[in-house]
Amino acid sequence: MIKPKINVNAFLLCFIILRFCFPFIALSQDRHLAENKAQQYYTLNDFYSVKKFDTHIHLNTYQDIFIKQAQRDNFCFLDIVDDRPFGLPMEGQQKIAIYDVKRFPKTMVFATTFSVKNWGDKDWAEQTIASLKQSFSDGARAVKIWKNIGMSLRDKNGRFVMVDDPGLKPVLDYLEKGHIAVIAHNGEPKDCWQPLDKMAFGKDYYGEHPEYHMYLHPDYPTYNDQIDARDNMLTKHPDLNFVGAHLGTLEWSLDELAKRLDKFPNMSVDLSRMPYLQLHALRNWQKTRDFFIKYQDRLLYGTDMAINDTKIPEELEKETHATWLSDWKFYVTDDKINLPGYGNLRGVKLPKSVIDKIYLKNAERWLPIKQGVEN
Ligand SMILES: [Zn+2]
Repeated sequence: MIKPKINVNAFLLCFIILRFCFPFIALSQDRHLAENKAQQYYTLNDFYSVKKFDTHIHLNTYQDIFIKQAQRDNFCFLDIVDDRPFGLPMEGQQKIAIYDVKRFPKTMVFATTFSVKNWGDKDWAEQTIASLKQSFSDGARAVKIWKNIGMSLRDKNGRFVMVDDPGLKPVLDYLEKGHIAVIAHNGEPKDCWQPLDKMAFGKDYYGEHPEYHMYLHPDYPTYNDQIDARDNMLTKHPDLNFVGAHLGTLEWSLDELAKRLDKFPNMSVDLSRMPYLQLHALRNWQKTRDFFIKYQDRLLYGTDMAINDTKIPEELEKETHATWLSDWKFYVTDDKINLPGYGNLRGVKLPKSVIDKIYLKNAERWLPIKQGVEN
């Protein structure tokens, strides 16, 4: 083989002449590189111009103060109806959702749910599927499964009904076949099963509500029972379009969450447990950032804000804006952030391409919705 002859000395001489006689060539290259690097990240100010989607909102009011704030902050959102035993019942939540989705089709979509009131009836699954079909024709795009399954619903023998109960299977089969997204809130944060002094967060809440503090109720299913039932259900429904609410109830460990994301390719999670995410970043910034980058296709931005009637609209506007803006700061910058009770951490400063997925593209893919919402 003939090797091309290169006069190394002549080549070096040429390079030195070019580099020193025409320094602007190198300078413009450096500037170009710096600009490219800057373009990889959003800034705090980009908050206003980037289209974003919050996948976890509860609208409990006909007032449109929150919706108007979402529009000002360039947010679309998913309003989630659920079967909670306090506050506005699910029928009332759904009426609001149907009403608002018609008024603001470019800003919101909604997820419906189903009742377990007649659980145990022979035709429960059939009736439930019929009611879901009605909700979809009323505009629902996804279905929420709430923690009452696993935490409070019991069968006629007094046993807790878990999410992998055979009675639920026909409904899950129907959703799986129809590629309808299921957003599941399974169990509670692990803290709920810990003594107060071992909790990362929630000491005040569980201190005031011992009835919900599972550490005090060993007769209830354990934390692992909840996770095992969910995992078992996912094993049986490999094509279910599944979104685990609140980091899939694995908020306390990125390793445990990563294991599930690896095991179940049909699982994504919403990020509505910000204090835990910030605690992970405070304890191990690099590991937390790496987690976001590795699982960038499986994470959906969400806040779990519950919006109620208010007589002070400015307050709701201010709080909503502050929540969204401070989360944006955590994800797009490496600025200092204070986590009360723990100290200061730095934002994870994710690249634009990752932010675009977490804040919009993944919602479009997993929920699924087009361009955020209907156009
Ligand atoms: Zn919620």
